[in-house]
Amino acid sequence: MSGTVFVTGGAGYVGSHCCKAFHQAGWNVVTYDNLSRGWRDLVRWGELIEGDILDEARLASAMADVKPDAVAHFAALAYVGESVDDPGLYYRNNTLGSMAILDAMKTAGVDKLIFSSTCATYGVPDRMPMTEDTPQSPINPYGWSKLFVEKILDDYGHAHGIRSVKLRYFNAAGADANGETGERHEPETHLIPLALQGQLRDGFGLTIFGDDFDTRDGTCVRDYVHVTDLADAHARALDYLRGGGGSEVFNLGTGTGTTVMEIVEAVARVTGRPVQHTIGPRREGDPPALVAGADKAREMLGWQPRHSDIDTIISTAWGWHQKEANSGR
Ligand code: UDP
Repeated sequence: MSGTVFVTGGAGYVGSHCCKAFHQAGWNVVTYDNLSRGWRDLVRWGELIEGDILDEARLASAMADVKPDAVAHFAALAYVGESVDDPGLYYRNNTLGSMAILDAMKTAGVDKLIFSSTCATYGVPDRMPMTEDTPQSPINPYGWSKLFVEKILDDYGHAHGIRSVKLRYFNAAGADANGETGERHEPETHLIPLALQGQLRDGFGLTIFGDDFDTRDGTCVRDYVHVTDLADAHARALDYLRGGGGSEVFNLGTGTGTTVMEIVEAVARVTGRPVQHTIGPRREGDPPALVAGADKAREMLGWQPRHSDIDTIISTAWGWHQKEANSGR
């Protein structure tokens, strides 16, 4: 047994895959989630405490009861468009919610934290691939809500000795290979699940947001990383902190970019039928290309993406969405 990890947002997409990885690494896993965007049936590795991170009394008592060795903090809102329409919601949940976690950790004497950050903190970078020291200048409240937490973590580290690993995800995709958890968003806005769900429904057409970018085929380039690889990086980050490692930040991506059109072709290849699609206008705020420089995670955590080739990402996600459709979702 490696100790106990307190996982906020463990009922969500990335959180649930990480719970599985922590469990497999020997951690006792306790999920704390208000189920506003997470799912009870995805909490399969350890107990669930239902609670909101903004409910400071409940959070403090849960942490005092559990007495975790470390916290992995996933509970957050993650729709860019929603953050533009309702920034207060994002600063409250993502920024103040993270402060509530830190204060509860301080009170309970917990000194190790893994924090889900995002490549959205970089904004529209002027160089590619983006390394951890690429200047951060978010272009939406979601990115700012996470960047503020990165700064707060540094300050809590200096003042209170809380060591943290910030993990900046690129495009999380794919699903658990055994179908035990996967991506379930309502509403769904992401490219790969939308394209796959369209294959299961008649009359659904995917809209490609722009084909006039300065990229190899005119559609946007993103760095898709399998959620199981992300989960492995989190387990390694916990080990790093347990071994006495100091606060660090890592990009989690593959270093390889894939265009929207290449995803559409891969979905057709994996599912065995063409993807109905039309070309629409650009979506506001979409940078042409986002590709990670991820050498640091390889060097310091020994992390190597093993499931992140596009066909593995899409075939595992396809298995999950078929299962979801068969269960009536
Ligand atoms: N995209 C698209 N049509 C959709 C959804 C997404 O063309 O219905 C594109 C989007 O413009 C971006 C890429 O797919 O270039 C990945 O978008 P997603 O929302 O999955 O992730 P993001 O990069 O916004 O985090």
